[in-house]
Amino acid sequence: MRTRFAPSPTGYIHIGNVRSAIYPYLLAKQSADGKFILRIEDTDRARYVEGATELIEDTLEWLGLNWDEGPLVGGPHTPYFQSERKPIYHLWAKKLIAAGRAYADPTDAKTIDNYRKVCYNEKRPYLYRDFRPENPPEWHEGIPLRFKSDPKPRKWHDEVMGDLEAGPEVQDDIILIKADGMPTYNFAHIVDDAEMDINYICRGVEYLSSVPNYLALYEALDLPVPKFVSLPHILGPTGGKKLGKRDGAKSVTEYRDDGILPEAMLNYLACLGWNDGSEQEIYTKDELIARFSLDRIQTSGARYDETKLLWMNGQWIRRLVDQQGIDEFYPRTLGFWPDAADNFDDAYKKRVLAIIYDRLKTLSDLRDMTTYFFRNPSIDTDMIVQNKFLKKFSIEELSELLQTSAEALTDSAWDEDTLQATLNQLLETTGRKPAELFSLIRLSLSFAPFSPALNLTMSVLGRDLTLARLHQTVTALENL
Ligand code: GLU
Repeated sequence: MRTRFAPSPTGYIHIGNVRSAIYPYLLAKQSADGKFILRIEDTDRARYVEGATELIEDTLEWLGLNWDEGPLVGGPHTPYFQSERKPIYHLWAKKLIAAGRAYADPTDAKTIDNYRKVCYNEKRPYLYRDFRPENPPEWHEGIPLRFKSDPKPRKWHDEVMGDLEAGPEVQDDIILIKADGMPTYNFAHIVDDAEMDINYICRGVEYLSSVPNYLALYEALDLPVPKFVSLPHILGPTGGKKLGKRDGAKSVTEYRDDGILPEAMLNYLACLGWNDGSEQEIYTKDELIARFSLDRIQTSGARYDETKLLWMNGQWIRRLVDQQGIDEFYPRTLGFWPDAADNFDDAYKKRVLAIIYDRLKTLSDLRDMTTYFFRNPSIDTDMIVQNKFLKKFSIEELSELLQTSAEALTDSAWDEDTLQATLNQLLETTGRKPAELFSLIRLSLSFAPFSPALNLTMSVLGRDLTLARLHQTVTALENL
C-alpha cells in the first residue's frame, strides 16, 4: 500500500483539505509495509505562497501524520517537490511525442478565444481537439505541449463513488506542459504517482470529472491505473456549500493555537464523513488505523460542526488527563494560562488544572476560567444581588450568610473532605439550600460564571485568600 498527500503550497492548509491527508495516511498504516508519501505540487509559481510548505509540514507533524517519504525525510523518489522534477516530466512528455500522442500547440490566446466563440455560437461545447492544428511545429520549451486524446467511452471504479462511466465528449487534448516548461497538474500527478508507485489516490471529489482524461493518459503512457478514492467535500456549517474561508475555515494550526488537541482534531476530521458503523465517537489514532475502511466513507458531503469539535476536544482533555495524570499533561497547557499566572509556580498551576480540566473545552479556556486563582477578581456585587438563587435575599441576609460562613471556615481544617463537611454543616446551621449558600460563596471567591466544586476551589485558593475574599465581599455589599 502506497498512498500520498499532494498539496499545493498556495496558502495555509484548512480543515477542508487536511482530510485528504488523513485517509491516505490511515490506509497506508493499515499494512505493515505501507508507505505514506508527501509530495509538494508547486508547479504553479504564480500561486506559490512563501512559507506554505513549512505550514503543511507543521500541520502534518502536529496531527501525527508522519510521512515515510517526502520533504525533510527524503526517500527513493527524491525530489518530492514537483518544481524540481521538470526533467522527469519532459522525459515522459518526449515518450508521448515519439508515440505520436502529444503535439506542440502554437495557438495564441486570442485564437483560442475565437474557437470558444465559434462553439458558443454553434451551441456546442468547446473542445480544443475540434481545432487540433494539422501541422503542429516541433515541440520545444516555450510553447505548450498538448495530449492527443483518443476520445471513447470510459468506465472505471471509484472506491467511494462506485462504478462510473463517461462518454468521449468530456475528453480533450489537455495541456501537459505549459509555456513556462512546467507540467500541468493533470500531467505531473500521473507521472509522479506512477514513478512513486502510488496505488491508491485519495483526493477531493472535484477531480472526479477529469478522470476520463486521466484514464486516456494512463492508457497512452501504458501505465497501470491506480485505485481512485474520491473524498466528498466538507460542507460549511449550514450545509449546501463547500466549507470555505468565509465559513471561518481556519488553518489547522490556528486551531492548535486556540487550544485544540491534535488527538481531537484528527479524531474529529477522520469521523467527518466516515464512521465504522458503531456508536463510538472517540478514537485514538491507532483505533482509527485499525477501523478505517474505504467502503464506509460517505458519498455525500459532511457538514463541519465546530460545536462537535469543541465537545470532542473536551472529551480528549479529560481522557488524556485521566490516563496520563496531571504531571504528564501539564506541559501541553503552557502558553494557555492567563498572564496573571506568570508569577505562580508549576505546582500551583497543576493544582488548578487538576480541579478544572474536566470543564475545559479547549486549553485556551484556561485563560478565562482560571484568572481568579491568580489574582483577586474585581468585585461585581450585581453578580450576587441579581443571581437567580440570591436575588430574594436582602443585602443584610447575604452579608450575614457570608460572615457565618467565614467564621465556620476559620476553624475548619483545609483539606477537601473537611471543607466539604464544613460546608454541609453550614447548610444545616443556616437552613439554606446548596444552590443558595454555595452560589453566594462561589461568587464571592471568583466573580466568575463558572468555577469548580466549591471545596476544591477553596482548597486550592487556601484559607487566607478564601477568608479575605469573603470579607471583601461583605464590605462591598455593606457599602452598597
Ligand atoms: N495539488 C492538488 C491539490 O492540492 C492535489 C490533488 C491530488 O491529491 O491529486 O488539490
